[in-house]
Amino acid sequence: MKTIGFIGLGHMGGPMAHNLLKAGFELRVFDLVKDAVSAAEKAGATACSSALEAAHGVDAVVTMLPASEHSEAVYLGENGLLNQLSERPLLIDCSTIAPETSRRIAAEASKKGFAMLDAPVSGGTAGATAGTLTFIIGGAPQDLEKAQPILSAMGKNLFHAGDHGAGQAAKICNNMLLAVHMIGTAEALQLGVNLGLDPKVLSDIMLKSSGRNWSLELYNPYPGVMENAPAGREYEGGFAVNLMNKDLGLALEAAIQSRSSTPMGGLAKSLYQAHSKQGSGLLDFSSIQKLFADKT
Ligand code: NAD
Repeated sequence: MKTIGFIGLGHMGGPMAHNLLKAGFELRVFDLVKDAVSAAEKAGATACSSALEAAHGVDAVVTMLPASEHSEAVYLGENGLLNQLSERPLLIDCSTIAPETSRRIAAEASKKGFAMLDAPVSGGTAGATAGTLTFIIGGAPQDLEKAQPILSAMGKNLFHAGDHGAGQAAKICNNMLLAVHMIGTAEALQLGVNLGLDPKVLSDIMLKSSGRNWSLELYNPYPGVMENAPAGREYEGGFAVNLMNKDLGLALEAAIQSRSSTPMGGLAKSLYQAHSKQGSGLLDFSSIQKLFADKT
C-alpha cells in the first residue's frame, strides 16, 4: 500500500492527507474546493479533477466527506467509484454517515469485487493535525490488517467495532455523548459565571472534580479559558454545528430503528438545531456556549 487516492480535503481531510504525505505515501487528491486541492498539491500530492481520477491507479482510496449523501454520490453515483473504476483498490470511508448507508455502500462494493471499511474518526481537527485520531472501524479483519499502515499514519488508536456499519454505529453513540457533555459543560460554566466565578478557576476546579470530561479538558467552550480551543478564535474552524446536528440526527434515527430511549440525545439535537437556526451552523460546535450567554 503505497499510493492513495484521497477525496475530501476539508477541516479533517486536509490535515489527514498531510500526515499521509509526511509518512511517505504518494497521494492523488480531489475536493470540490479548488483551494483545498492546491494546498495539498503544495504539500506534495498530485491534484486531480474528479474523485474518479483521484482513485485511478492507487492501492487504496480514503474518503473524508461531510455526510451520507456525499459518500453515496462518490461511491454509488453514476460517475461514482463503484460504477466507473476498473481497478479494485481498498476503499476506506472515514466520513461519519448513517450505519445503514455505510452497510449499503459496502454491500454494493462487495458485489463489484471491492473490499471496503467504514472508519469514522474521533479526535477533532487537533487530532487530525497531530496524527493522533481514533479510528472506529467496521468491516473484515483481513481488510483492516491491510489498512493498518494507512490508518496508523493518521491516528493512534484503531478499534475494530465489528462488521460493515459497526464503525458508524459506535461513532454516532460517541458523538451523541459528546454533544450532551459539551452542552452540560457550557451550561455549568455559564451558571458559574452568573454566580460571579471566574470561568478559568471554575474549569480548573471541575477538572479535578467529578464534572471532569473531554469538553472541559481539551475543548473548553468558554472564551478566554483555553487558548487553542475554537472558543479562543471566535469558534472558527473545528467541528461545525451543522455536522454535529447531522450526527445527532443519525443517532436519533438509529434510536427509532432500534427502539432505544435517548432523551438526552433528543434534547441535544433540539438545542443544536435551534443554535444552527440562529445562524451558527458553520461555527464550531462548542459555540453552543452562546446559547447560554447572558445577553441582558
Ligand atoms: P468539511 O466540511 O470541512 O470537509 C468536507 C470536504 O468534503 C469539503 O472540503 C467538501 O468540499 C468536500 N466534498 C464534499 N463533497 C465532495 C465530493 N463529491 N467530492 C470531493 N469532495 C467533496 O468537514 P470535516 O469537518 O472535514 O468533516 C468530515 C467528516 O468527518 C464529517 O463526516 C464529520 O462528521 C466527520 N468528523 C469531523 C470532525 C471535526 O472535528 N471536524 C471530527 C470527527 C469526525
